[in-house]
Amino acid sequence: MEKTGTLLIRNARLVTPTGVREGDCLVQDGRIVALGEVRSPGPVPELDAAGRYLAPGFLDLHVHGGAGADFMDGDPAAARAIARFHAQHGTTGLLATIVPGPLDRMRRAMAAVIGIPGILGIHLEGPFLNPEKAGALDAGWLLPPGRDAFRRLAAGFEGQIKVVTFAPELPGALDLVAEIGAIGAVPSIGHTAATYEQATAALVRGARHVTHLGNAMAGLHHRAPGSVGAALLSTASLELIPDGIHLHPAFFRLAVEFLRGRGELHRLCLVTDATAAAGMPAGSYRLGDREVRLERGEVHLADGTLAGSALTLDQALRNAVGFAHLSPEGALTLVTTNPARVLGLDAELGSLAVGTRADLVLLDPELAVSATVCDGEISPGRG
Ligand SMILES: [Zn+2]
Repeated sequence: MEKTGTLLIRNARLVTPTGVREGDCLVQDGRIVALGEVRSPGPVPELDAAGRYLAPGFLDLHVHGGAGADFMDGDPAAARAIARFHAQHGTTGLLATIVPGPLDRMRRAMAAVIGIPGILGIHLEGPFLNPEKAGALDAGWLLPPGRDAFRRLAAGFEGQIKVVTFAPELPGALDLVAEIGAIGAVPSIGHTAATYEQATAALVRGARHVTHLGNAMAGLHHRAPGSVGAALLSTASLELIPDGIHLHPAFFRLAVEFLRGRGELHRLCLVTDATAAAGMPAGSYRLGDREVRLERGEVHLADGTLAGSALTLDQALRNAVGFAHLSPEGALTLVTTNPARVLGLDAELGSLAVGTRADLVLLDPELAVSATVCDGEISPGRG
């Protein structure tokens, strides 16, 4: 790794909001200060991109862990290791995703991630979820929605909590929407048995994101379109896990083609839902307090329930291109501009433009990561 105040990246295929073009990129003090044909400002470090794509760093709204570590460890060193691991796969900004557990444990996990480079904030995946749709989360720690319970959990972390997943059909859940919004977080539907009507009611009330669409919710049935139907027909942003395991590739393609037909591909965000097993060999790992097993690329509880993934966002990107016949630059918006917009950070992150933060990724033509630039540091990728 190399720390640098100024860096000139030469001969790149710049993935900009207005298209891909050949050129250079000048970084100063962590910002992009020039793009296109850039004259060297003097003797500064240069990186020859050799025609590779230069794109904004990836943003992942849903990460539990990686490289053997879990955010629920409540350990800043573990959190740092997770962020570093995902950076090698192109992710320069992620939401540390906290699962239901004892209150003090959840709060310790939140405290451990604050201020760590590459961690943009917290995604609370619960605890106001439907026990019937807990999936791999520990249903024993789920709570009925309540203003006081939410305030106890969030106190001191307002501004750090960016997304809160809740089940809209639970009594009191609709009142939670405003409560979540009041601390500046995005209310997100997930781990839910909501009917189409119940999900729609929450979307109308201000829920504006959907946690791993299709997973931990009823499927799209022609007589019961459920949360999936409500979500697709809403204006909410949608998370999809394109590992080929959580979703059939055709379901992914259906969602892409539906949104593209409506001119709404900007609503789609790829997420990994990565656990500690990501980047590790087959074996046993933890998700919160539960043991999960990684075998043949799939992560399960002992009873066979899917338990997050071993996916990285670069692989998600390549899968998305294959599943839905997306162009590389089209697929890149699903891991850059779109999640930045969900977080309200689109002026700062997620697009290659002068003035934005210089969190960058260099990709070869097959979309393997050859390097990332984050906080002025160049790190080699693990394509
Ligand atoms: Zn999750």
